[in-house]
Amino acid sequence: MPYALVMRIARFTIADCQPRYGVVDDGPEPVSITELDGDPFAAEPKLSTRAHWLTDVRLLSPVAPSKVVGVGRNYADHVAEMGSEVPFEPALFLKPSTAVIGPGRSIRKPAATAELHYEGELAVVIARRCRKADIAEVGEYIMGYTVANDVTARDLQRRETQWTRAKGWDTFCPLGPWVETGISLDEAGRLGLRTLVDGEVKQDGNTAQLIRGLAELVAYISHFTTLLPGDVILTGTPSGVGPLEPGQQVSIEIESVGTLTNPVISER
Ligand code: MG
Repeated sequence: MPYALVMRIARFTIADCQPRYGVVDDGPEPVSITELDGDPFAAEPKLSTRAHWLTDVRLLSPVAPSKVVGVGRNYADHVAEMGSEVPFEPALFLKPSTAVIGPGRSIRKPAATAELHYEGELAVVIARRCRKADIAEVGEYIMGYTVANDVTARDLQRRETQWTRAKGWDTFCPLGPWVETGISLDEAGRLGLRTLVDGEVKQDGNTAQLIRGLAELVAYISHFTTLLPGDVILTGTPSGVGPLEPGQQVSIEIESVGTLTNPVISER
């Protein structure tokens, strides 16, 4: 693991000042965040003496990725529910950086879709420039893990050859609440994942069900595009995807990582 320290790294603002990075305390109900000095992607980020109550700050997406690489059809039960087949090679797509939002921010349902869906996913966050990595060395490039919602306009996905609009609309990539650095690649490959809509469980899976594992995915992706610090890989969703309507709230919980919650509103 490249990180010597086990921590929850978050990005935040206070009173709409410039975003900064900090470390959230590791309690079951965290209450504080301590600012980091210098580079959050360094192997041993330096803690400052400036601490804040979490209630005084607004958490943002924990990183600001240059790109988000999505992996489709990577859980067999989800492939089956979509009536599709496991792709011969990983099915990749990109979500633009402008689709990313933080915890608590609203997912906006565009007028162009009648079928907005959630997809709860484990997200890998890249620590340092990664190009053509071997599977065995992938762990050296991973900062940690966060929770993602690969929000999808399902009707547009069916209708359009490319998934760019279906998956790339503004607000279609909630990330957070923080990057958990204290999880090994092995551990990340057996984490429980649940999605709840208004408190009702809709997805209940485990990353042990991934068709292509985390190391294989990162290595494969790094052979076509250079991954930069803060870039994010969405690793696919288990079965149980379904609709989101304005007024609802969607939460994705990943064991040992955290819970990402976002309300849904109509785009004006
Ligand atoms: Mg997905």
